[in-house]
Amino acid sequence: MKEVILIKNGELALKGLNRRTFEDVMIKNMRRRLADLGEFTFTPAQSTIKVEGPDGADLDEAVERVSRVFGIAGFSRALKLEKNFDLVLENAGRYLEQQLLEAETFKVVAKRSDKKFPFDSPQICLALGERLLDEFPHLTVDVHNPEITVMVEVRDHDIFVHANQLKGAGGMPVGTAGRAALMVSGGIDSPVAGWMMAKRGVELTAIHFASPPYTSERAEQKVHDLLGKVARYAGRIELSVVPFTEIQEQIRDKCPEDLFTIIMRRLMVLCAERIAKHSGCGALITGESLGQVASQTLGAIACTDAAATMPMFRPLIGMDKDEIIAISRKIDTFEISILPFEDCCTVFTPRHPRTRPKIADVEAAEAKLDIESLVERAVAETRKIYIS
Ligand code: ATP
Ligand code: MG
Repeated sequence: MKEVILIKNGELALKGLNRRTFEDVMIKNMRRRLADLGEFTFTPAQSTIKVEGPDGADLDEAVERVSRVFGIAGFSRALKLEKNFDLVLENAGRYLEQQLLEAETFKVVAKRSDKKFPFDSPQICLALGERLLDEFPHLTVDVHNPEITVMVEVRDHDIFVHANQLKGAGGMPVGTAGRAALMVSGGIDSPVAGWMMAKRGVELTAIHFASPPYTSERAEQKVHDLLGKVARYAGRIELSVVPFTEIQEQIRDKCPEDLFTIIMRRLMVLCAERIAKHSGCGALITGESLGQVASQTLGAIACTDAAATMPMFRPLIGMDKDEIIAISRKIDTFEISILPFEDCCTVFTPRHPRTRPKIADVEAAEAKLDIESLVERAVAETRKIYIS
């Protein structure tokens, strides 16, 4: 008698021929996430994966981590029993005691994939239903809308008993949709943007621009902490910290003030693309949301895009701030994001940024800079840090 986790695949089930690959990636991700809790085994069968730890493994922690693995639609903690129906009758009530005590109505559902098992599904439901009514006299059976559905799954090797499946993180397994570079600041938006793309199966690399001495070590630490939270969903993240001081000072000294932000963002993109390509990324990700600030108007976004050759993903583009904040609270980044450390974007912020920059004006202003060597130096002096 032992407790295991049963995983239900999400969109995976729809993927037909690719299903095996997707399942393999998801298992690899779970294996990594659980590695320091002991040697877990992962056994796929039908649309379920059985996750079993060694004796004494911390199942609460395992469940917590599994709940953040993308690709999983739902999962349950389940009691694994030998294939003996008496064991089901004896143990189901005890195993589900807490939940059954808190409920008023229940039903039993049996699934029998082993057709040789001597009891069929109606017999299992009837016998276990009666037994539970004996053990928990306050309960009544409600087949239409029960508070608890007690599941008995008779499989080839084991019987599983569980109740009320929990919701998984959904989405697609990280690594099934290629790799992209998240441009991450210390703000609220970019960690959420990274989480959203990871949810679609994208493996994340991160790029952060720091401008010491205008920005502090604590501002960078904040980015590490934010990515640490994202990594609980996205897996290990390689972070590149790009020194941006020289570029910002040059823009400040040589370009019109009202174009400062837009030129800065274009240079970020140029540096980011170089690093992204080097890390095998196929796209950049930002936390921009239309109209949120001057650099996020349609015209400004067009100017930023024009500097890029890679696709730029902006998963927050149509979201309101309160919707973004709701996600940042859910993934536990909000409290870190609102810590007040100076970001490189707030250094030298123009008093009146241009909201409808013309690309010709921007390019004329940029001609005063030696862009190639600025970008090359910044990329050459980039530091790599691994966050998990
Ligand atoms: P955030 O909350 O993510 O900081 P924001 O609303 O403050 O976003 P901006 O400061 O205009 O908006 O930044 C827009 C996007 O540009 C960010 O979401 C992020 O993707 C990227 N970005 C901004 N600052 C940096 C930085 N220092 N390093 C890397 N990327 C950055
Ligand atoms: Mg910001």
